[in-house]
Amino acid sequence: MSLLITGSIALDSVKTPVEQHHDLLGGSASYAAIAASFFTPVNLVGIVGSDFPKQYIELYQKHGVNLDGLQVAEGQTFRWAGEYEWDMNRRRTLSVCLNVFETFQPRLPEHYKNTPYVFLANISPQLQLHVLAQVERPKFVVADTMDLWIETAKEPLLALLRMIDCLVLNESEARELIDETSLIRAGRAILKLGPKFVVIKKGEHGCLLFANDLFFSAPAYPLEDIHDPTGAGDCFAGAFAGYLAKVDRVNHDSLRKAVIYGSVIASFNVESFSLGRLQTLTQRDIAERYEVFRQASHFETP
Ligand code: AMP
Repeated sequence: MSLLITGSIALDSVKTPVEQHHDLLGGSASYAAIAASFFTPVNLVGIVGSDFPKQYIELYQKHGVNLDGLQVAEGQTFRWAGEYEWDMNRRRTLSVCLNVFETFQPRLPEHYKNTPYVFLANISPQLQLHVLAQVERPKFVVADTMDLWIETAKEPLLALLRMIDCLVLNESEARELIDETSLIRAGRAILKLGPKFVVIKKGEHGCLLFANDLFFSAPAYPLEDIHDPTGAGDCFAGAFAGYLAKVDRVNHDSLRKAVIYGSVIASFNVESFSLGRLQTLTQRDIAERYEVFRQASHFETP
């Protein structure tokens, strides 16, 4: 089953206390699409400027990402710059330039419209709604968001929540959306806003999955070396949605596994800048790390 993904496609500048890189391939949709491509065919919807490097187009192609919904417009690609502290959980956004995204109103190619699974990666909720409205009877819709939209676009975000099946967001965003310090109460309160499932990511501390009749707490991979945490959340959600599309089944069992596959891909991605680590990732690597997660969270000895 294929998965439609929309979101930002960016040229990122990323600074950590030890390294700095410019014009890296980034954006929520880029991370999500490559992560999902390990599980299922991806139909990408997005826009880049005329400055977008050909090698990044080739990178999507290498992963079999369908680019019929990728618009190349006159002008500059979306750009984002961020800086991490020694504590890599702390990041400062240095600049954001929407550029060609400012006027982006995509029309989906006809053959995208019946894509059964949809992941609306982080971008304005107005744009997420615009894309979703063109998909005909999707089976399962996952969305991500960020603090910026909670603060500046709450109404369209609440409208979006009534139309999706699953919201994926990080812990500070969950607290901000609900104005609540307890993550458990926040997760349950978000369920009341529309989605049947909510995943709250806790960075290096794993994540929580909520439904009315389900609570699942997944551990994080015990990673020693983090080079660049950018896009971890997007990789998580892309792989999560990609796995559900692959098995074409949404139940407690597949959701738990999807959370673990999401965590596996995210843990690989932070091992290098941009999408570098996912370029050499194999199905065997994924299976081995999935097994580490299984061992790490199994508490009854045989
Ligand atoms: P994450 O680390 O999961 O927060 O995602 C980082 C990616 O989000 C970067 O590659 C950025 O290009 C992209 N990004 C940053 N700000 C925005 C924004 N306002 N809308 C969409 N994407 C963004």
